[in-house]
Amino acid sequence: MSVDLNQLKIILSELKKYNAVLVAVSKKKSSEEIKQVYDAGHTIFGENYVQELKEKYEALPKDIQWHFIGHLQTNKVKIIAPFVSLIQSVDSLKLLKEINKEGEKNNRVINCLLQIHIAQEETKFGLSFEEAEIVLRSQELNQMKNISITGLMGMASMTEDKLKIKKEFKSLKLFYDTLKFEIRNSKFEILSMGMTSDYKIALEEGSNMVRIGSAIFGERI
Ligand SMILES: *Cc1c(COP(=O)(O)O)cnc(C)c1O
Repeated sequence: MSVDLNQLKIILSELKKYNAVLVAVSKKKSSEEIKQVYDAGHTIFGENYVQELKEKYEALPKDIQWHFIGHLQTNKVKIIAPFVSLIQSVDSLKLLKEINKEGEKNNRVINCLLQIHIAQEETKFGLSFEEAEIVLRSQELNQMKNISITGLMGMASMTEDKLKIKKEFKSLKLFYDTLKFEIRNSKFEILSMGMTSDYKIALEEGSNMVRIGSAIFGERI
């Protein structure tokens, strides 16, 4: 078994110092492995694939908070809308419209983070700072009653260059602080940044939510 409960404990005690929340990223891991982490007392999990998330939701205890952190296609929103706790990877107004529509059908407000593109790699999804501002200021968003934008998510470049990672996280923190000041909505309170390789840097730069997979569940194959 590859689940490392000792590592989980170490990470949780580190996070405590920063008042940060752990999302245990369980993509490609079995329900049995997730159950081991759940039995250790952890209830927040992140998944990247809609169908996989749905199956795990059905198989596992209902007090788990499921975060969707992968690229989300509009035609699949309806599958997760009834139960998802937070969609961290919203990268367009079109997607927000769909989430709002499905939220309305399910009679719930769906919490969302805007995913911001801070890495230099082209492969990473997300909005630029300018695009995010346009979305946040749009009249359309204002009218979406079944959406709550509770913060931002970002991924740094995949690099050994710690200074570069640090700079990218710093830029997102600055943007987050500026928005928080402008928006003045107490629900805008999550800054999700940091994964296994870079969460320590992210915490130093002001992250209050980290998404950690392989350190807890072992390498993905
Ligand atoms: C897979 C994934 C993670 C976790 O990655 P690890 O390196 O295993 O910690 C975090 N965030 C996102 C968006 C992911 O897709």
